[in-house]
Amino acid sequence: MKTLVTGGAGFIGSHLVDALLAAGDEVTVLDDLSTGRLANLADHIIDSGFHFVEGSILDARLVDSLVAEADRVFHLAAAVGVKLIVEHPLESLRTNIHGTENVLEACTAHHVRLLLASTSEVYGKNESDSLSEEADRILGSALKSRWSYAAAKGIDESFAYAYFTEYGLPVSIVRLFNTVGPRQTGRYGMVVPNLVGQALAGDSLTVFGDGRQTRCFSYVGDIVPALIRLSETDESLGQAVNLGGAQEISILDLASRAIDVTGSSSGIVFVPYSEAYAPGYEDMRRRVPDNSKAAGLIGFVPRTGVDEILQRVADGLRSTPHLNDELMIRSRQSRQARAQVML
Ligand code: UDP
Repeated sequence: MKTLVTGGAGFIGSHLVDALLAAGDEVTVLDDLSTGRLANLADHIIDSGFHFVEGSILDARLVDSLVAEADRVFHLAAAVGVKLIVEHPLESLRTNIHGTENVLEACTAHHVRLLLASTSEVYGKNESDSLSEEADRILGSALKSRWSYAAAKGIDESFAYAYFTEYGLPVSIVRLFNTVGPRQTGRYGMVVPNLVGQALAGDSLTVFGDGRQTRCFSYVGDIVPALIRLSETDESLGQAVNLGGAQEISILDLASRAIDVTGSSSGIVFVPYSEAYAPGYEDMRRRVPDNSKAAGLIGFVPRTGVDEILQRVADGLRSTPHLNDELMIRSRQSRQARAQVML
């Protein structure tokens, strides 16, 4: 099977590429290396079944030529990370809307099966106990970049669904909830690599806001097999499917767990959102997935608990010191710039 992975040098994409190559696929990665890294694919550089193309999903001709040669496409390329999105809203909108349109157009033209990666951000501020795929989207102002990102991903889904109904594009949509694991960098604001990196360095862990906001973190090693199974399950065509973690945890508890799991002597500092993010940021208090649709379709069960996730992220950071160095430089810069309230 010839598989194209857009965004394959990124955190989730590179784990997907590992799994696809291990399963015997011939894999082509299209990535502009804006947030992805070639180091994530270093193990495959001499693999004859692996091809890397540096380029953008905004290049419609390039996308078309790569899709034409593929049997299936995983579309993961996107501007991701709340920090990146609020700092570069225009670039994010262009990539996430026009880039995805190019992928949809090419997959339709060549009738190639597509799995589109979307996000739990589409639910916005809906804080219900369990977000099913039919849940309402509660978005803040369109002038706040976090919500324009959520709107853009929602438009991607609507585009995909329209291509499915009007042109018969074989497409499935997945909504990923806080996927975490080794290779995720804290550069774009993601909380788990940030906190674990700080704990390993003996720096104070930065908890934004009051720390009572919650998330359900899912482990990339649970998510990747689910992506592959969904791309092979016809019942998922024309559907959006949640993939998230099972355990709801507050960010303050997450910080405490990160300290315990790494054996760190670090403390915790609370940082106001206004100091942590550019204008345009607004947090959601809670985001809890209902995974029952994925359970029914492919038997999805998120098995990896928070402590194990933190342990694996810590192991990953210890074995890739450049990621850790980068985190620490950022952490120190931001520490100098901010008034802190010590716990
Ligand atoms: N967060 C934090 N400290 C950090 C980075 C993030 O407290 O160093 C918070 C952030 O404000 C949010 C939560 O952790 O409430 C999850 O942030 P992330 O960007 O990882 O995911 P998302 O907000 O997209 O769920």
